[in-house]
This record gives sequence, structure tokens and C-alpha cells, in this order.
Amino acid sequence: MDDLKAMLKLLLIIGVIFGIFFCGLYIEKCEDEKIWNGGIHAECGGNWKVFSATHVRNQGTLYHYKCEKCEEIFESQYNHNRKK
Ligand SMILES: [Zn+2]
Repeated sequence: MDDLKAMLKLLLIIGVIFGIFFCGLYIEKCEDEKIWNGGIHAECGGNWKVFSATHVRNQGTLYHYKCEKCEEIFESQYNHNRKK
């Protein structure tokens, strides 16, 4: 009986960890979309342009975007320039 309780506890902990993980991914994606803002830097109205992409091991490609107007930089795991 105690084994079953311990097992359920473990499952619950794993479930919570996964929940936080996916929630984090989701929030990150939303934040990303917000900054990307359809290709326009919300603060100055300039266009975001990809200036480099680095391949991060185990994570995939990281894209670096730079604002044409104010030269602010933002990094994203998503290639926003890719047409759907
Ligand atoms: Zn800007």
C-alpha cells in the first residue's frame, strides 16, 4: 500500500514538472510572438531583420533579429521569416 502511495506521489511530481515545462514553452512562444509583432518592432516601428542564426546543440537553431531602425536585438527559437 505504501509503495502505491509512493508511486502516485512520484507520478504527480512528474506530472507537475511536465506541466510547468510545457506551460513555460507556451508562454515563451507567446512572448516571442509579442516581440516579433508581425515583423515590426513595436517601440520604434522599424522592421525586424534576421542577421544571423546559430545552431545550438540539443535546442535547434537560434535566430537573431535586429531592428533596422534602432538596432535593438532579439533572439528567438522561431524562424519568423519562414512562410507558412
Ligand atoms: Zn526598433
